[in-house]
Order: sequence, then structure tokens, then C-alpha cells
Amino acid sequence: MQWLWCWRCKSEMPMLDEQEFAEVIALFEPGARSVKKYRLETGAPFQSVPLAKHFEAMLTGYEAITGFKETNPNAVWHHRLSLYGPPCKKCGKPLRTPKARLCGSCMTPSG
Ligand SMILES: [Zn+2]
Ligand SMILES: [Zn+2]
Repeated sequence: MQWLWCWRCKSEMPMLDEQEFAEVIALFEPGARSVKKYRLETGAPFQSVPLAKHFEAMLTGYEAITGFKETNPNAVWHHRLSLYGPPCKKCGKPLRTPKARLCGSCMTPSG
């Protein structure tokens, strides 16, 4: 786990390495099934589903690794270190992707 600037959350977020990501994401599927079942039973619209409850196991796993209490299971999908490039030489923010040629923040070329 490593704290890194997240372009989507617009703040420093705990990012998972590949092994940690695999462990946490393995718990997504049971959560998704639980949501599906809940919606079939209640007819509730997606917006009203208490996601933090259905994905409790996954979010608890994320918190156990990162110490960060995330409530949005979907955010975990992009908190993965391998999605980002090395830090910008000028401003230190991670490049948006490993292949990015320019820093998304200060436009300094990466190579
Ligand atoms: Zn994020
Ligand atoms: Zn930069």
C-alpha cells in the first residue's frame, strides 16, 4: 500500500499493490451478488442500495490494509498502484497512466 495522488478523487488516497488489490477485489463479487439479491427482493432502485453495507467485507479488507475507511466500493477499483505512472519530475504527482507522456497536472514531459 502506498499513498498517492488520485486524479479522480482529487486527493491523496491509499493505493494497493497487485497482491493487495487481488485480495480486496476478490470480495467485490460476493458484495455484488448481495446487492443483486437485495434489489430482487425489495425492488429498490440502485441509488437507494446501502452499498457500504453490502460491500462491508470488501471495504473492511481495504481498511485492514490501508487504515482508510472507504465507503464507496467503486472507488477501490481505481486505487491500484499499477494503473498509475511514476511521479512527475517537476511536481511529484503520479502520471495518470504508466504510458503517459505528459504530467496531467503541470504538463512536464515524462521522458
Ligand atoms: Zn480515487
Ligand atoms: Zn507534474
